[in-house]
Amino acid sequence: MATIFSKIAAGEIPSYRCAESENYYAFLDINPLAKGHTLVIPKQEVNYIFDIEDENYQGLWAFAKKVAKALKAAVPCERIGVAVIGLEVPHAHIHLVPINQEKDMDFRNKKSFPAEEMAAVAARVEEEFNKL
Ligand code: 5GP
Repeated sequence: MATIFSKIAAGEIPSYRCAESENYYAFLDINPLAKGHTLVIPKQEVNYIFDIEDENYQGLWAFAKKVAKALKAAVPCERIGVAVIGLEVPHAHIHLVPINQEKDMDFRNKKSFPAEEMAAVAARVEEEFNKL
């Protein structure tokens, strides 16, 4: 059965898309740590990130780097924090979080933003991504 993230990448479940390529997809986390918190996934379904074969794994991180640059341009912040957890959704994903201080990466502190704000920030990230 397809994972929820495969359904998101296929457009079967709605998401706030930030970037897309042939093999990868980036979208806003629905329960973000900060505005612009983005998830980057391979379209290929692999549960554990370190089980992804090398070429696809390296491509995932190269894609995430580009998304992080776009995110930093779209959302004023000190850094883009990176995390891989994967305990909730069994489809490999990289968290990219705009941060200003260490405590902004606390996964016990999830937030929510109105739909219009989520749509606007995703559109800004995609605009920046398409410039790269
Ligand atoms: P993890 O697997 O890394 O522990 O956490 C999964 C992350 O995916 C969480 O931050 C959660 O908020 C996010 N998430 C779970 N389900 C959905 C969903 O259906 N849509 C989106 N956009 N994010 C989700």
